[in-house]
Amino acid sequence: MGRFAAAGNTPGAALSHLQSGKKGIGMKASQFPLFTLKETPADAEIISHQLMLRAGMIRRLAAGLYTWMPLGLRVMRKVEQVVREEMNRAGAVEMLMPAVQPAELWQESERWEKYGPELLRLRDRHEREFCFGPTHEEVITDMARDELRSYRQLPVNFYQIQTKFRDEIRPRFGVMRAREFVMKDAYSFHLDSDSLAATYEDMYTAYSRIFERLGLDFRAVAADSGAIGGSVSQEFHVLAESGEDEIASCSACSYAANTELASSRPAPLSEQAPETAEEKATPSIETVEEQARMLDLPTERIVKSVVVMTDEDEPAVLFLCGDDELNPVKAAHALDVDEVRLATAEEALQATGVPRGFIGPKGLPEQLPVRVDHRAAGASNFSSGSNRADHHWINLNWDRDVPLPPTADLRQVRPGEACPECDGGKLEMSRGIEVGHIFQLGDTYSKSMGATVLDEDGRERPMQMGCYGIGVSRIVAAAIEQNHDEAGIIWPAPIAPFAISLIPINIQRSEKVREAAEALHEALAAEGIEVFMDDRDARPGVKFADNELIGIPHRVVLGERSLEKGKVEYRGRRDEESVELDYDSVVKELVTRLS
Ligand code: ATP
Ligand code: MG
Repeated sequence: MGRFAAAGNTPGAALSHLQSGKKGIGMKASQFPLFTLKETPADAEIISHQLMLRAGMIRRLAAGLYTWMPLGLRVMRKVEQVVREEMNRAGAVEMLMPAVQPAELWQESERWEKYGPELLRLRDRHEREFCFGPTHEEVITDMARDELRSYRQLPVNFYQIQTKFRDEIRPRFGVMRAREFVMKDAYSFHLDSDSLAATYEDMYTAYSRIFERLGLDFRAVAADSGAIGGSVSQEFHVLAESGEDEIASCSACSYAANTELASSRPAPLSEQAPETAEEKATPSIETVEEQARMLDLPTERIVKSVVVMTDEDEPAVLFLCGDDELNPVKAAHALDVDEVRLATAEEALQATGVPRGFIGPKGLPEQLPVRVDHRAAGASNFSSGSNRADHHWINLNWDRDVPLPPTADLRQVRPGEACPECDGGKLEMSRGIEVGHIFQLGDTYSKSMGATVLDEDGRERPMQMGCYGIGVSRIVAAAIEQNHDEAGIIWPAPIAPFAISLIPINIQRSEKVREAAEALHEALAAEGIEVFMDDRDARPGVKFADNELIGIPHRVVLGERSLEKGKVEYRGRRDEESVELDYDSVVKELVTRLS
């Protein structure tokens, strides 16, 4: 000890930092157990889930419910810290709301019904109804209507970092899509929409800074606002093959959108000279492909009919080109409802009176709502079902044979199609994990819940609101999806659970190794470096493997033979080879490498 004069440390300095409350900086395996697994758990499908289990970061309690083990929690706390610092920098103020919320608030906003089975509902001993908050618009708006009275108190932006519960239909991929998870949610209040737009911009900047600081490859994309409501919204995605979302981005301009929402300019269909419409017998046809083969037509000249059911259980029929795919989010917008799903064969039959496969625009019951996709609206001499079993029309033309229904964008975009916003750009697809979502809500909640302030002229006005979410626990998994190799996790430095690990070889038997390792451990901690020492009585191979698995960015190996020459071995987690460093100057060297 006292050998690390180069870094200006003495055992006294190490002690004083402990006394000053910098605890948890230095840890040893003997006090901070690792719960690593050799085998990949069979039920973990994606790499981050496998590695989080193998590294002992999380353990499953039940579907979508996870315990954060000490190692995992250290990483999540780091993510929280970056989020907190950037929210504070952007002028947002932290608070904490209850996780359990009274049903009455959700009835006021009309989401008690709308939110559906994802909302976990509870009753207390007095039979009063509550829910476990999946999000907090109602609670914050309730607070705001009581506390914010004058335009002078605006704008203001509140945030919290808190556990949410959503009874996801398919919890999977570990903490990536959990039922209980940690979110940072922020809510801003404004007198007018200009002020809202300004704070929304600030949040966009803060989010970009957060994901940059976390060392993630991310993209901001235009998004659908879903059940939360409002108009303008953008999602932040960490780019990864395993991502559940598909993103379309332009090769030439900055256009990027979730494919739930993305539009394009597909090449127009070839125009045909009108021919005579004719009804053909097409027995037992079920698919567009069979129809195309039997009638000897390209699939793009088939106008297919897709029957959907709205969230209010009303049927509607949508017409698209045979080679296009229906986008349900766009369909919901076109029909001005919250959600649609494909009708079952029975529902389709009930709605139209025709077996699925033979439904078409000509002769459909008039009361049924119908829409036609823009591309299909350009079809000529097309074929479609004739609304009687085993028959299809050929050579139909809109207006001449059947009135053109209201048109809408209904189709899923395809890679290579022209960008909707620039000339010459083509859409490219990538996959992303949604880690953040920002919305301009407008007065959706403030109106329904009566959250008003007095403006300059003493008039009551509903406040304009924004809301801004970040999936704190999901980020931990997303970071692993982007940063790993065959051996395990490779943490970006800002969220690594420890910066350096020390691996003393044979520590249980060599006094020299123990002394050198203990001294180095203390000296690094005194420098404020988070250091982990693997002081287990385990084979070197086991320690090396675990260290790579848990992804510590820097490691120092202390062995008796090298120490006799005054050396230790250093290796960065991404380095091919180790290098020898002088034991006496290793602290200084590591401080330099870490800064
Ligand atoms: P998703 O489409 O992935 O279900 P969402 O649109 O429902 O997300 P928001 O309501 O915008 O999500 O919530 C804010 C953030 O919370 C999301 O951007 C995401 O990072 C995170 N999040 C949402 N649901 C989950 C979940 N089940 N598990 C973990 N994180 C989640
Ligand atoms: Mg969701």
